[in-house]
Amino acid sequence: MLTPMLPWCQPALVSLSAAKQQGKLPHALLLGLDAGFGAEELMRHIAQMALCTNVQASGACGQCKSCQLQQAGNHPDFYEIYADGNQIKVDQIRGLCQSLTQTAQQAGFRVAIIFACERMNTAAANALLKTLEEPGAQTLLLLQTNRIGQLLPTIRSRCQRVLVQEPNRQQVRDWLSENMTLDSDPCWCLPIVGGPLALAQALTDGRYQQLLSLRQGWQQALSHGHINATLQGIIDKHMLDAIGVFYLVIRQSLLKNQQLTLVQRAALAELAGRLMRINQQLLSMPTINSLALCQDFVLEYKKVMDY
Ligand SMILES: [Zn+2]
Repeated sequence: MLTPMLPWCQPALVSLSAAKQQGKLPHALLLGLDAGFGAEELMRHIAQMALCTNVQASGACGQCKSCQLQQAGNHPDFYEIYADGNQIKVDQIRGLCQSLTQTAQQAGFRVAIIFACERMNTAAANALLKTLEEPGAQTLLLLQTNRIGQLLPTIRSRCQRVLVQEPNRQQVRDWLSENMTLDSDPCWCLPIVGGPLALAQALTDGRYQQLLSLRQGWQQALSHGHINATLQGIIDKHMLDAIGVFYLVIRQSLLKNQQLTLVQRAALAELAGRLMRINQQLLSMPTINSLALCQDFVLEYKKVMDY
C-alpha cells in the first residue's frame, strides 16, 4: 500500500502524470533527493503511475488491475534494487537489465527503481549504462540517490532529472502539525536528522527528546565551562547527534548574540567550521576521542566569550 503523497513531492508526480498521459514519459528518471525528504515514497508513486493503465492528473488511478497488483506488492513488471551491504553489485544490475528485456506480462510498462544508486560499483554502473543507452520500448528506469555528485556523469546525462523543491521550515511545520500534536517547533534539528520524514520518526521514537536534552546540556556546558555527567553519557553513545547539536548551539549563539565583537564572531565561526569537519570525520573514523575534543571546544568557546 502506498503512503499518502507528501505535499512537496506532489508537483513532480503531477507533471510526470501529464507526460504519461501524452505518451511522453522518458526512459530514465533521476531523483536527487534524500530518503528523509520522502524520496522512496515519491519513487513508488511514480512507478505505480507509470504502470497504471488509467492515469489521472494527480497520479495512478488506484483502481485498475495494474494498480491493484502494485498495491498488493506483486506486479510482475515491477522491480526494485537495493544495495547489498554497502554496494549495488554488477550481478544485481545484470539480472535487472535481463528482466527488462523480456516482454511485459501486463502488456504495459516495465518499471524498475534503483534506490541509493550512487552505491553502484563501477562494474554495475557500466552494466546499467548499456540499458540506459538502448532502453526497450515502454521501459522506465527510476534512479534515486542521496548523493548526486557521486554518480558517473555518463549516467547522470542519460537520465531526465526529477526536480523537487525541498520544503522550507514553515512547510515542514505545517505538514508535521497535520499529523501530530507539537508542543514547540522541532524544526531546529532538521539539519541533524536529515529531513521531515526523519524528523517525524525522531518525534515518535524518542530521538527528538534526546536532541532536546543535548541542546540543554550544551547550553549549560558552554555557560559553566565543563561537560556534566549526563551530557558525557550521551556523547559516548551518540557522538554524531552530540556534535551536530553542539554545532547548532554555537551557530545559534553566533546569530543571536548582538554584543559579539568582530573578533569573537570570527573565532566562533571558525570553531563551528571545525566542529562541522569533525562531524564529517566521525562518519569514517568513529573511534575519535570525541569527549576530549568536545571538552577542548567548550573551553575554547569560554575563552572567546570571556575575551
Ligand atoms: Zn491504475
